[in-house]
Amino acid sequence: MKWQERFAGRMGSLASSVAVSELLKLAEQPDVISFAGGLPDPKVFPMEAIQEAMDRVLAEDGPVALNYGPGTGYTLLRDWIAERMLTKDRAAVSRENILVTSGGVEALHLICMTLLEPGDTVVVGAPTYLVALHVFRAHQVKMVSIELDENGLDTEVLEQRLNELDRQGERPKLVYVIPSFQNPSGLTMNIDRRHQLIKICERYNVPIVEDHAYADLRFEGKPIAALKSLAPDRVILTQTFSKIFAPGVRLGWVAADSSLIQQLALCKIGTDTCANTLGQRLVYQYASQGGIDAQVSEAVRRYRHKRDVMIAALAEHLSGIVTWSRPDGGFYVWLTLPESSDSEALLRYAIENEKTAFVAGQVFFADGRGARHLRLSYSFIAEDQIEEGIRRLANAIKS
Ligand code: PMP
Repeated sequence: MKWQERFAGRMGSLASSVAVSELLKLAEQPDVISFAGGLPDPKVFPMEAIQEAMDRVLAEDGPVALNYGPGTGYTLLRDWIAERMLTKDRAAVSRENILVTSGGVEALHLICMTLLEPGDTVVVGAPTYLVALHVFRAHQVKMVSIELDENGLDTEVLEQRLNELDRQGERPKLVYVIPSFQNPSGLTMNIDRRHQLIKICERYNVPIVEDHAYADLRFEGKPIAALKSLAPDRVILTQTFSKIFAPGVRLGWVAADSSLIQQLALCKIGTDTCANTLGQRLVYQYASQGGIDAQVSEAVRRYRHKRDVMIAALAEHLSGIVTWSRPDGGFYVWLTLPESSDSEALLRYAIENEKTAFVAGQVFFADGRGARHLRLSYSFIAEDQIEEGIRRLANAIKS
């Protein structure tokens, strides 16, 4: 069989994601200090508490936990999520507004399946989460990229673009944003920006997808209201257990109007029937004993320190040569290189000659921009390697 001739049209547009993983395979050599992967630090997983919760689930609920479960998710977990969103995010949601998904990525897929036709237009940040771009490409939609400034998505530019599109008779079906500690930039939308975004989306009647992945990992400053709390009907919130518990459990959720939740659940029958039932009971058992809150506090402490070490190392080795974001939470620092730099060429050089790696900027842009940027993640790397890694990166940049 000549399978290449049989691949669906959408596969062509997914090819760009492969190039990234090929290059990053090189970074997996043991002597490379890598700031590439956005993985949690395994030290934040409290193994004993998780083991205890798992033992309890199997002892008390084993036969049910090992079977299929309800398509919308384990009821007690949905209630726990709704209660948490009510107290933490001041979002007025209840069980009917929650769908448990196989992680944040499935949440995005289901939203696309439910709301988008091929050829529709979606607004994304420039830069934005690379897997979200991958999902949008798989659904064959057009993407309109909106720049960020130090307060996140630039709403003036957004308004201008929506206006231009409107004059061409085009209206985006969604605006996708990561308002807090954005992946990859680490930037956060301040409250004025959030109000501004909602006002514009109301004017053009566009729904907002609010990706809340890192919002709980705040190192300092007061929490800023979730878009979901400011415009409950317009905003579809997606969240993941990957940053507040563990990615291995592959769980997340969508919070949205109940009519939309029902349609998302209908699509979910065709993706995985129901999210990991054993995992859902494990998470509920662990969370209802205070496990997640305790874990988040410890994770914040750890990541804040790593952020500080990285920022100090950047200041020592790269001041006046490049600029960088200083995130108040999350996993990432975003570096801007001098004009006409090529971050992909720099990555090859850095891996080969300096044994250090990062993610080159282009993959975070829907339209091929990003050659001046790179993403550094401090979440996974051992704390005592950060300074040496930045020193090596500085050598690569200087040469
Ligand atoms: N959104 C953002 C912005 C992310 O960075 C991630 C994880 N890297 C996710 C969503 C989804 O994660 P998962 O599929 O592991 O739940």
